[in-house]
Amino acid sequence: MELKALGIYGPYPKAGGSACSSYLVRTEKAKLVLDFGTGALTRLSAEEDVSSVDAIILSHTHFDHVSDMLPLTYLMEQRPGKLRVYMPETKDNWYLKILNKTCFEAYEVNAGDKTEINGAVVEFFPARHTVPTLGVRITDSGKSLYYTGDTVWFDELTEYVRGADTVLADAAKPLGFKGPHMSYDKAGLLKAASGGKVILTHLSPDFDPSSALVDPDIKVAEEGKTYSF
Ligand SMILES: [Zn+2]
Repeated sequence: MELKALGIYGPYPKAGGSACSSYLVRTEKAKLVLDFGTGALTRLSAEEDVSSVDAIILSHTHFDHVSDMLPLTYLMEQRPGKLRVYMPETKDNWYLKILNKTCFEAYEVNAGDKTEINGAVVEFFPARHTVPTLGVRITDSGKSLYYTGDTVWFDELTEYVRGADTVLADAAKPLGFKGPHMSYDKAGLLKAASGGKVILTHLSPDFDPSSALVDPDIKVAEEGKTYSF
């Protein structure tokens, strides 16, 4: 399985050509995109013919995770076929209007749901954020990735990440952070619970915890980097 970090910042991109949350996951037969924030479309287009993507999975509808769905409609309207989109329940009317466009095939999903996309098993888990948000586990050919979505720490996460080869975690905030994201000290707990490696993401444009990390299995995500496992 390959995970490519298309964009790693939130709630807005860093100055000088960065992008907000978006990750391309390549499994044996599937191409899946997790979240589609600011700058995701140009990054994805540079990697892949967007029409060849099997599905976009949106963890939640905050703008830094979905904003490039807007220009994506213009691109997809010029292509044949529909692009599958999975997302949690939303009451945002403007967003529902986008998903009702004929270029998308939208599925509302909940924690506990499970689907298969070109051989990749995709499971949805609870997260704790300010709007309905899902964690996502992708399993294919004996390997698995767990994406926490945006969330604060809660103890059940240790069950959800168990056995994941890579945990992509919203855990790059400073110690003592009070908002709806995890601080970087939670990475050690996620590593211990999963038994795998941890990639910290959703970086603030003005804070990078890299210098505080000593465990080689815990890294801060780098834009443009591909992680294979
Ligand atoms: Zn959010």
